[in-house]
Amino acid sequence: PFSLSARALSLKPSATVAVTSRALELRRAGEDIISMSVGEPDYDTPPHIREAAVQAIRDGRTRYTPVSGVPELREAISEKFRRENGLHYAPDAVTVNSGGKQAIFNAFLALLNPGDEVLIPAPYWVSYPEMVALAGGVPVPVPTTTPTTPDNGFQLDVQELERRVTPRTRLIVLNSPGNPTGAVFPPEALRAVADLAVRRGLGIVSDEIYEHLVYGAEQVSVGTFAPEHTLTINGASKAYAMTGWRIGYAGGPKEVIAAMNALQSQSTSNASSVGQYAALAALTDHAATARFVQGARAAYRERRDLLVSGLNALGLPTPTPQGAFYVLTDTTRLHPDELEAGRLLLERARVAAVPGTDFGAPGRVRFSYATSAATLQEVLRRLAEL
Ligand code: PLP
Repeated sequence: PFSLSARALSLKPSATVAVTSRALELRRAGEDIISMSVGEPDYDTPPHIREAAVQAIRDGRTRYTPVSGVPELREAISEKFRRENGLHYAPDAVTVNSGGKQAIFNAFLALLNPGDEVLIPAPYWVSYPEMVALAGGVPVPVPTTTPTTPDNGFQLDVQELERRVTPRTRLIVLNSPGNPTGAVFPPEALRAVADLAVRRGLGIVSDEIYEHLVYGAEQVSVGTFAPEHTLTINGASKAYAMTGWRIGYAGGPKEVIAAMNALQSQSTSNASSVGQYAALAALTDHAATARFVQGARAAYRERRDLLVSGLNALGLPTPTPQGAFYVLTDTTRLHPDELEAGRLLLERARVAAVPGTDFGAPGRVRFSYATSAATLQEVLRRLAEL
């Protein structure tokens, strides 16, 4: 009795999901599979955040909240943007959403008309092009620089971006530190993109969800260069190990935030009330949160070094990412086609990683190193055998 919509049918089946389900299948069959495919911290949410959520439940903070989020949390986010990013968003220029994912989706729905083009530096997070298309827009991938040494690559080429601007271009998506590249865009590149946006009358959607996971590089918010042209996305998932709580947020020009709230009011309403109080604790108990973030960052950095040097030593070229918790490895030596390389890794080394196909990264596979050093050693041992 049902027929699927053109919209539903237009969704690309995800290579990520294909690998994950095959990995689960093998695991169910008793195989010892190591998953390097997940995009989430391996830590539990820090205790002070969990306690705040328990307290919120005890206090009966379990009802609908304003669609845009509880006022205390929007105040705290406004203050966080000022303190950590040098961005000045009043609390009513902030919206709280069910994950950074919903913030981005709301933004595309609020800002795109059919046929509007969105520039997306490649490799990119798989969801950007799909979300743009669902909102009726046209994703336009823009290549970043190719790594030539272990320490460079996947950087913005602003001329390349500008070459793709057409009369239909509306938005530029930036994601620094980036998934899946781990690349951090330096301030001068961000300033150049901001100038481009101002010159050509474009908006920037800046996804800064990995901002705290940076290993030595300078992390700057592009919104400081072009506040009127930038919508800044962030969230609790990656920095505070809160993926399951589903709290993301955005700050930007008030009329954009108001349109995102209007859309959200007719779809999901507010983000989970208990999750909001948990995020409030993460943003206001600075000392406890900073201790957690610093500890996690130091651990990720060690793991990154272990994995990057191990993969390069095995002859699998892997640039050193400066942020997030992913590496993007050239697997053409295993197989020219990254889907086949991913299959070999899974079937023969029992390591689940994500082929770059959906990330706009042909010939590469993404490993997440949000896992223990012992596990990484075992992964390297298995790859050496392969
Ligand atoms: N942006 C990027 C680049 C991501 O990798 C992710 C999660 O994988 C998200 C946004 C969304 O995270 P969440 O919806 O959990 O806030």
